[in-house]
Amino acid sequence: MEQYLSQLNEAQLAPTLQKDGPMIVIAGAGSGKTRVLTIRIAYLMSQGVDPFNILALTFTNKAAREMKKRIADIVGNSEAKNLWMGTFHSIFAKILRFEADKLGYPSNFTIYDTQDSQRLISSIIKEMGLDKDIYKYKQVYSRISSYKNSLITVKAYFQNGELQESDAMAKRPRMGEIYQNYVDRCFKAGAMDFDDLLLKTNELLTRFPDVLLKYQDRFRYILVDEYQDTNHSQYLIVRALSDRFQNICVVGDDAQSIYAFRGANINNILNFQKDYDDVKTYRLEQNYRSTKNIVQAANSIIDKNKTKLDKVVWTANDDGPKIIVNRLITDAEEGRFVAASIWDNKMNNQLKNGEFAVLYRTNAQSRAIEDALRKRDIPYRIYGGLSFYQRKEIKDVLAYLRLIVNPADEEALKRVINYPTRGIGQTTIERLVVAANHYNRSIFEVMMHLDKIELKINAGTKRKLEDFVTMIRSFQVMNANADAFQVAEHVSKKTGLIQEFKKDGTPEGIARMENIEELLNGVKDFVEGQQEIADATGSLSEFLEDVALATDLDQDTGDDDRVALMTIHLAKGLEFPHVYIVGMEEDLFPSAMSMNTRTELEEERRLFYVALTRAEKQAYLTYTLSRYRWGKLIDAEPSRFIEEIDEQYLEYITPINDRRYKPMIDADIFGEVDKSKLRLKKPIAGKSPKGPSEEQLRKLRKLKPVSDGAPTGNLFDSDLVAGTKVNHTRFGRGEIIKLEGVGQDKKAEIRFENGGLKKLLLRFAKLEVL
Ligand code: ATP
Ligand code: MG
Repeated sequence: MEQYLSQLNEAQLAPTLQKDGPMIVIAGAGSGKTRVLTIRIAYLMSQGVDPFNILALTFTNKAAREMKKRIADIVGNSEAKNLWMGTFHSIFAKILRFEADKLGYPSNFTIYDTQDSQRLISSIIKEMGLDKDIYKYKQVYSRISSYKNSLITVKAYFQNGELQESDAMAKRPRMGEIYQNYVDRCFKAGAMDFDDLLLKTNELLTRFPDVLLKYQDRFRYILVDEYQDTNHSQYLIVRALSDRFQNICVVGDDAQSIYAFRGANINNILNFQKDYDDVKTYRLEQNYRSTKNIVQAANSIIDKNKTKLDKVVWTANDDGPKIIVNRLITDAEEGRFVAASIWDNKMNNQLKNGEFAVLYRTNAQSRAIEDALRKRDIPYRIYGGLSFYQRKEIKDVLAYLRLIVNPADEEALKRVINYPTRGIGQTTIERLVVAANHYNRSIFEVMMHLDKIELKINAGTKRKLEDFVTMIRSFQVMNANADAFQVAEHVSKKTGLIQEFKKDGTPEGIARMENIEELLNGVKDFVEGQQEIADATGSLSEFLEDVALATDLDQDTGDDDRVALMTIHLAKGLEFPHVYIVGMEEDLFPSAMSMNTRTELEEERRLFYVALTRAEKQAYLTYTLSRYRWGKLIDAEPSRFIEEIDEQYLEYITPINDRRYKPMIDADIFGEVDKSKLRLKKPIAGKSPKGPSEEQLRKLRKLKPVSDGAPTGNLFDSDLVAGTKVNHTRFGRGEIIKLEGVGQDKKAEIRFENGGLKKLLLRFAKLEVL
């Protein structure tokens, strides 16, 4: 038997060794479902299955990459490279590029992100003269998204009286028209939104039997992780593709189904047995991730749900400490408790930042936690906030790049046609849109034929439009023979974007310019990385696809040591030694929106189950008596979920009487904090009875890098200090002169041996310490 199979227990071996046929593994959190999928793929390859014939669908691209790496360790990199692995969106975006022409799309179609889609919907609402307070663009967007995920096309919408009625009841009788316009405009712009990537794949597989046959034949073995969270559209794709060979292995946990609000359908798990012949069902019961206290507490929670499959989860791990429950007065104090507790833990137990995660129900909760972590110089990383690629200046550069690849891209065009300013006004743009709609062409096409159409613009404006067209076309000419980096660099200079920020001269302007510089570094790295991949060329369109489908988790290279902050939804599948679940309050968690029906409440409870089962060693639950929400101080009550946990697994503490967690500033905690005072205050860790000794502290202070007098990175946080010699993949060897900023924005100023002085964002710069 292959050596690597010894990484599995008996129960895990069974589904791993079943080579053919449909199978489902249903098992609780931490029981090794993902591990089974990984090892199973290696095993299939050892049995002669060609990696080109294996398709594995994961929840994030990061998960796919990690899986691929583990498999590569077993079977070797050259073989593992050929596996088809990734999220539904990334895999099917690739397939759609091959087959785009069948659906009338160009193969270089743009992928609209949520922001692009929402901007387009917002302009459509405006153009149609509708009331934007009734037709709220975000609501309209999510409505359209849910139609698409249920495969309700525009045509189907207009045939469905019930749907139309429900929109009319919601005072939005013209939803259907907006939907129609949105779909038309995307099509004309050669753009697909995220939901289209699934919808169009379904269309492709249904309308073209030969295409279906081709992919059925290619993907002879299909594996799906987190199957409980597939939506209807994804379900149909998997079903269609696996229909011929029926070698389908899905793993999931009904107790972790948390995306119903986005259309995930738990019935996909429940009905799996009915969908295929001779389905083998496997169960795993042993949890390897967490302590007994955590596993049993999690079991006691999920027991309260009525709708569930019967499952046993146990662990042979130690009991571990009890789950700590803590009451704080305000959200600011909650943040301080979390930061102080992480600090103490690190000091006492020599832990790394990366061993901690703070999980919350809503993104807005991160601010108080961030403030507190910053004050203690504890580096953190927020997942799911505004990602690098969503920043304005980055989206501006990307919009130019998108236009080069697909000039029909309406959202990209509208973004940069007058940025940097070139005297093309809003009225002109609106006229162009009207003309484009009238002639049923893209805006860019209209601009290319200004002589042939009737358009009310003066000669000066006309010349400016023509100049813009000429510029984009010159970029296209270059793009035909250059790689993504060369084009991106040229574009950033030629369009005047870099100069714009240089001229600006404010710290924000400089930060923006540096971000663009970092984007260029990223493109360079991408191009170099692509050279290793068999059929990739490092072209601009490859880069844009990569960016469009990158999620926040994907950018995490794992190189830097930071506390992870994220919503519980994002934490699915991940694990951390220490987990803080904050905001355990009624109306927040469970969310106020979810208390109307049992179904909704049960989904919240599953979310809590997911949160708690991320913890390996220790979990903390915190709640506050009052919290700022929507700009007001609101009284809060402890979450019912705390009470639902069997008390024997909990330990309550009240930090108000515990001087260790004394607020760092002796201000009225309800009052405003004078930020200028903060810098002078020292962390209170030294006062902690279990904290480091005076001698230790002296040593630490001595080692702490001193730059410009401002507090710098924490010693435990990174090996980088002023004076560290490093190597950068592109700029070569150099020495760090200075570090500045914290969190995502931490930068190092480096003098490179080849003469250059550069400021690099640490989360992007790939530095090797020499
Ligand atoms: P989740 O439901 O949260 O996605 P999962 O069922 O996918 O969890 P894994 O992430 O595969 O579980 O495994 C949980 C942890 O247990 C991982 O750290 C994994 O490496 C470890 N593990 C799984 N199986 C074994 C085993 N047989 N021996 C030792 N460790 C194991
Ligand atoms: Mg998993």
